[in-house]
Amino acid sequence: MRGLWVKLSLAFAGVVILSLLLTSLLIGLATAGEFGVYVAQGNRRWAEALAPALANYYLRNGGWEGVESLLDPSSLMMPGMGPMHHPMGMSGVAMWRMMGHRLILADETGWVRLDSEGTWVGTLLPEAVRNAGAPIWAGDRIVGWLLIGDAGSLSDPSAQFLGRVGWAIGWSAFVGMVLALGAGTLVFSRLVRPLRALQQASRRIAAGDLNARIPAQEAGELGEVAQAFNRMAEALARAEQQRRQMLADIAHELRTPLGILQGHLEALLDGVLPLELEQIAQIHDEVRHLARLVEDLRLLTLAEAGQLRLDREMVDLKRLIEEAVDGIALQAAEKGLRLEVQLPGELPPILADPTRLRQVLMNLLTNAVRYTPSGGQIVVRAQDMGDAVHVSVRDTGIGIAPEDLPHIFDRFYRAGKSRARSDGGSGLGLAIARHLIEAHGGRIGVESAPGEGTCFFFTLPRQEPDRGVSPIRRSVRDAG
Ligand code: ADP
Repeated sequence: MRGLWVKLSLAFAGVVILSLLLTSLLIGLATAGEFGVYVAQGNRRWAEALAPALANYYLRNGGWEGVESLLDPSSLMMPGMGPMHHPMGMSGVAMWRMMGHRLILADETGWVRLDSEGTWVGTLLPEAVRNAGAPIWAGDRIVGWLLIGDAGSLSDPSAQFLGRVGWAIGWSAFVGMVLALGAGTLVFSRLVRPLRALQQASRRIAAGDLNARIPAQEAGELGEVAQAFNRMAEALARAEQQRRQMLADIAHELRTPLGILQGHLEALLDGVLPLELEQIAQIHDEVRHLARLVEDLRLLTLAEAGQLRLDREMVDLKRLIEEAVDGIALQAAEKGLRLEVQLPGELPPILADPTRLRQVLMNLLTNAVRYTPSGGQIVVRAQDMGDAVHVSVRDTGIGIAPEDLPHIFDRFYRAGKSRARSDGGSGLGLAIARHLIEAHGGRIGVESAPGEGTCFFFTLPRQEPDRGVSPIRRSVRDAG
């Protein structure tokens, strides 16, 4: 996380430095340009103001001979000032230099006759340079050109001004950079803090501590990430808790039949019980019970993982119900129960896995027989509801207590703590039934009143023949 923080800060610093350098450069160039124009205009006005005095000289002397005497600033007028006074003993050249200026006088043909720096005297000024100066008119003709420019020395005021501006820009860029970096560091460390918390919490979860959570104080996307992480951690903790519970349940469920088997076998080995067919039949019953339990568990695990494969086909539900009722009829009769079937003349075909549907029906019917005392009644009913078929198994049995009803479809749940395992099955039947019905896109439910009876019902969505494979079917198939 330190890496991310450093990278963000460096990237930010890079952007800040680059933009400040660019801004400073542009401001510097613009200032120098504008200031150059301003200074050039000032110099030209100065030259224009001095031109009449030089014209006078020319007219008086009939040419530029001896014009060097004019270098003495006291003989020239500064704009807005009286004649220049120069310090004692200072030459005209030194005066101009001190002022940071250079004075150049060219005659009408462009030859330099006077240069306060002395270097250009006798050279021909290019026309473009000459035209930047002020023309000197003697009557109606130009007799020369006067140029005033910067001396180019360090003491040049414009260079000093530009230097100061440059410094100011440099300093403000530096201070801006320091402030921006300080602010950036603060912002990034704040930004990275929740990510660091996320990293630490993920590490704890990876190490098996499923109680790790992030304080979700941040607003916006980071807060949402924290909440999503916490939700994920809770789901993981729940799944882990369920896994442990299931393992404990399985161990508990296996222990009882294994204990009985072991006891029986030891008694047979020790000669406590005679080795008779009856004893072997009891052992066989326990082994069958174990085998069914293991098969139920396999089925439930597959269903919970969404990997249960359904082999769907168009099912004649009416026939399927009749066959299932036939299958339980003997048991019901043995227990002295009346079994009634109320089916309409016709039921729409349903796209379903007939084996799984039969399993659900048999589970509901077996339970009804198991939990209905002798003399009771079981009614199986089916109705076409238009977009679905509704099937119910109603009994006049012992019923289910209201506090048990919400849990009746949980795995290993057996209503009534006193009801022993020997009374019924593993407590997996209804959990499996719910998964199978939901895998078919249907819903399963129960209504019950203790002492009066119970009604389990489920619906199965009706498939339109031309719609082909339903999304549910596809997803179940894909999962398989
Ligand atoms: P089991 O194999 O133990 O019957 P189920 O999942 O099928 O497991 O049923 C769970 C529990 O629901 C049963 O142990 C029983 O207590 C209760 N139960 C199921 N069907 C009925 C019913 N028709 N009448 C009363 N109780 C029932």
